[in-house]
Amino acid sequence: MINLIFLTENVNLRKLCKRYYAVDDQGHFLESVFDIASDYRLTWKQILSVVRASCVALSTVHECEVCGEPKEFTARKEVRKSRSIDTYTCEWHQNPQSQEENYSSNISSSNSGDSIPNDPPLQKEVQLLADSLSSVSEKPTRLSREL
Ligand SMILES: [Zn+2]
Repeated sequence: MINLIFLTENVNLRKLCKRYYAVDDQGHFLESVFDIASDYRLTWKQILSVVRASCVALSTVHECEVCGEPKEFTARKEVRKSRSIDTYTCEWHQNPQSQEENYSSNISSSNSGDSIPNDPPLQKEVQLLADSLSSVSEKPTRLSREL
């Protein structure tokens, strides 16, 4: 369900993270945050900030449909929410507008380096014109050969 990446070498802090994100087979949390908090003589808010500072919790179930990045949990609340979600898209790929902006800016930046602007439709027209001219000039030679 949840893969913990520890940001600390401290064994006690690691243990606290494990307790905070420990779930059973159904994905339900084994201990209440209040129980954990009272063990450490901290408030649940302090527990949460310690957990956030000590580990990164990644979902082993939810991966972005676009880039495959696993969903990151920053609290139990998000773990509970994601139980009902079948598919996941990361924040970056959730926003199609920013993606579009990025796409169009990529195009304009790739074209800005060219001193002569490329105009594909015009180029095609020139090519067609050249083709028709060559076929015209070819005809007399073919004709003269046949004659
Ligand atoms: Zn993504």
